[in-house]
Amino acid sequence: VMASMAHLQEEKLRLQEELLGLQEKLAAQESDELSHSLHLQGQVETLKAKLLEQAQEISRLRSELGGTDAEKHRDLLAAENERLRREMKACEGELRELRRQQQTPCQDCTHLQENTELRERLSQLQREAEETRAKLAELDLEVQQKTNRLAEVELRLKDSLAERAEEEERLSRRLRDSQETIASLKSQPQQIKYIIKTVEVESAKAKQALCESQSRNQYLQEQVGMQRQVLKEMEQQLQSSQKTVAQLRAQITMYEAELERAHGQMLEEMQAMEEEKNHAIEEAFSRAQVEMKAVHENLAGVRTNLLTLQPALRTLTHDYNSLKRQVRNFPLLLQETLRSARAEIGQAIEEVHNTNQELLRKYRRELQLRKKCHNELVRLKGNIRVFGRVRPIMKEDGEGPEAANAVTFDAEDDAVLHLLHKGKQVSFELDKVFPPQASQEEVGAAVHAAGMSGGCNHLLLTLPGTPQVFQEVQALVTSCIDGYNVCIFAYGQTGAGKTYTMEGTAANPGINQRALQLLFSEVRGKAADWDYAISVSAAEIYNEALRDLLGKEPQEKLEIKLCPDGSGQLYVPGLTEFRVQSVEDINKVFEFGHINRATECTNLNEHSSRSHALLIVTVRGLDRSTGLRTTGKLNLVDLAGSERVGRSGAEGSRLREAQHINKSLSALGDVIYALRSRQGHVPFRNSKLTYLLQDSLSGDSKTLMMVQVSPAEKNTSETLCSLKFAERVRSVELGPVSRKAELAFWPSQEQLEVTEGPPGDSAGTAAPSGRSHTSPSTGQLSSRAASIRRKLQTSG
Ligand code: ADP
Ligand code: MG
Repeated sequence: VMASMAHLQEEKLRLQEELLGLQEKLAAQESDELSHSLHLQGQVETLKAKLLEQAQEISRLRSELGGTDAEKHRDLLAAENERLRREMKACEGELRELRRQQQTPCQDCTHLQENTELRERLSQLQREAEETRAKLAELDLEVQQKTNRLAEVELRLKDSLAERAEEEERLSRRLRDSQETIASLKSQPQQIKYIIKTVEVESAKAKQALCESQSRNQYLQEQVGMQRQVLKEMEQQLQSSQKTVAQLRAQITMYEAELERAHGQMLEEMQAMEEEKNHAIEEAFSRAQVEMKAVHENLAGVRTNLLTLQPALRTLTHDYNSLKRQVRNFPLLLQETLRSARAEIGQAIEEVHNTNQELLRKYRRELQLRKKCHNELVRLKGNIRVFGRVRPIMKEDGEGPEAANAVTFDAEDDAVLHLLHKGKQVSFELDKVFPPQASQEEVGAAVHAAGMSGGCNHLLLTLPGTPQVFQEVQALVTSCIDGYNVCIFAYGQTGAGKTYTMEGTAANPGINQRALQLLFSEVRGKAADWDYAISVSAAEIYNEALRDLLGKEPQEKLEIKLCPDGSGQLYVPGLTEFRVQSVEDINKVFEFGHINRATECTNLNEHSSRSHALLIVTVRGLDRSTGLRTTGKLNLVDLAGSERVGRSGAEGSRLREAQHINKSLSALGDVIYALRSRQGHVPFRNSKLTYLLQDSLSGDSKTLMMVQVSPAEKNTSETLCSLKFAERVRSVELGPVSRKAELAFWPSQEQLEVTEGPPGDSAGTAAPSGRSHTSPSTGQLSSRAASIRRKLQTSG
């Protein structure tokens, strides 16, 4: 429909253009007509001027001859003519005006309207043409009348000319009369003679009268000549005027013919134009009709389309209405759904929360249970483990019988070792014994086994010799990460390998670094749920003075104080703590500690053997899900050499050092003993070392005592002491020891010196034996004790 509309519009524009062209043509023809009429008017004007001249001439003649009625009538006619001409002009002006009106373009867009308008205009124009035709007829009539009048005028003119001729005749007659009179007068001479006689009487009078009549005659003759001339002129004039009139008449007839021709032409042109117009209108009408038909067809097509679309529209409307209804209901529905969903979610959240709470409660209960179990296990197994490590024979041990190996191992039991001392084999049972060939990794694994509080011990027992290093160390580290305090001591005489076990070498690092490494990896593994902070402090205790190895002023003596928060915890104000996040950090810390330690003494080896070196690792954890906070401490202690200097008769500072070492190691033994025998009072305060490590030794803390021994023959005495110390520490837990017995059973360092010898020798007096106090409740240990007993019996 749109396309056809556009097409129609174009067609309409084209038609309008055509119409405009036709109108232009019409205007051109009209202008032609106008020019024609103007030309005619000009001619009429000239004729008029000529007529005027004629009239003037006539009036002049009339003034000479006197005016006639015909002339008056002619004048009237001329005036009439003038008026008619003016009317014609007015008519022409109206015609032009009407045409101009016709030229105004049609603004209506519908063809029917256009057609009707065109038709109306056409009829109007026809009417106007009719009017003009009528006016033309009138004008013709007038022209006819005028010609009639002119004829009349001419007739009158002829009459007047006749009259004039008569007048002339009359005048000539008079002239002839006068001449005859003169001739008659001449033919009478006798009379004149007589008269002369008489005249001679009266001659004067006659002569005068004759003269007078002769002059009068002359004058009259002149007058007649003049009149004749005038007449001739007038005749000539009349002739010329007659000619002119004839000419005018011919012109008039010519003009009339021309006018008629022009009129005919005009009529023809008008007819042609009308025909053209009609034709154009018809064409436009037919075209419009065709277009209308096409539009109607289109309309019909659209209508059929509409009819086919109607059902679809109906369904769409239906859908739309239903959708609208749904949309209207949607917010309510949504709100309801949201409300229910919210309620459901809330309920679910509540449920989840409850479940979580329940789980958390269970988890806490489990934790507590685990802790309780752990504690129970610790109580059963003892949270203090004692390992022995025998270093290999080295070239520093010298050669010959002094450097001979005095230590042997049990092939079946990795907890037993035999020492040949003064020709006698003394057997010791510890929790585990590492032979010289044991690698650092294995030691680490065993250290770890201690951390597992028996669980991995079992593993070690079932799979002896299998290096379970990382898996087992991980458990120890886990123990620390879980919030337990761990103490690992290296005990033994100088040169027995304490530092080697704890620190190790750069190529083969010891427990310190390995433990920390695994601590890091463990922490990384738990990073999803836990936030951990690991910090390190390094200190040394020399002559009962605590020094910060990482501090700016290592000489400064630090004090151990009770936390002011009333928790009963101890802390060391001013002890430097470095946060570490990688092995590199630890190495830097170690290096720094070493440098500090080295600058403080002249001989590092000697100094280090006379002081306790402590590496305190604090692991602080936060369980993000439960908010549970844990703090675990890993104390790695490289103890001072346990060798007995008293015997060598040392003096001064050497003696003081020895006394301090002796005191602190005894105190450590006392504390461990008190702890394992579960005494009410544990003498932590007896030394700086035990006091400092109080919270890491008590409660559910785990302690590992690594007793280092030298296998060399020359060191057997010290080795014996160390092993005795170890066995005593270990054996304490094995039996319910009374409070009284405690003190009697626990020897001091000096006592260890005095009661030197195989434990079998002094069994009756002081040294307690694990084997004699085997707890029946721990089957594993009792069976192990039984095997020891059996071995001891065989060894004598
Ligand atoms: P301590 O610290 O007890 O005085 P060290 O750790 O300094 O003894 O050991 C003394 C020497 O023995 C060192 O040269 C050390 O490398 C070596 N040593 C100790 N234990 C072992 C071992 N298990 N394997 C190899 N060498 C060892
Ligand atoms: Mg050392």
